[in-house]
Amino acid sequence: MRFKFFRHLHMVNKHRFLVFVHCVKCGLFWRGLTHDLSKYSPVEFFESVKYYTGKGSPIANCRKQNGYSLAWFHHKGRNKHHFEYWYDNKNKEQINIPYKYAVEHICDEIAASKCYNGKDYAPTKLLEYFNKHLNSYLINDRMKAFYLKVYTDMSNFGENYILNKKYLKSTYSEIVLNGSNNSNN
Ligand SMILES: [Zn+2]
Repeated sequence: MRFKFFRHLHMVNKHRFLVFVHCVKCGLFWRGLTHDLSKYSPVEFFESVKYYTGKGSPIANCRKQNGYSLAWFHHKGRNKHHFEYWYDNKNKEQINIPYKYAVEHICDEIAASKCYNGKDYAPTKLLEYFNKHLNSYLINDRMKAFYLKVYTDMSNFGENYILNKKYLKSTYSEIVLNGSNNSNN
């Protein structure tokens, strides 16, 4: 338990540092600094220590064993970079995820992929992962098209091509805001 405590703490810190580096590249200093702070709350932290394996997410591990994760309920309700924060099953159509959180999500996914894949990490992993889970994502079609475009470009041209304000701003406004009836960017 003591080892898992420190290993999980290290994993959270390492993950947050990577997200910070990615967010700064995109001009989102504050998003990077405050990313995933709720992971230090007891409800999230201790469950994740218990289900820590070093490979994959402890939340996914807890969910697999118990059918649900209390840490996840806590996390998704407080962290706007998760699709689930914005999901409302009563909506006719899901709203657009605001720009800064949509980008923080990308920074998070890249960091998670680096942490979990270790030396097997490659920029193509993001597109593979996104395509594999595409049908389970509760986001509107414009958001899906946005992420597909970003991850495809990342596969073809690498991380630095997409992790910058100019690329992300123009891709977001082109795909998400154009032809959209809500402009909550
Ligand atoms: Zn998070």
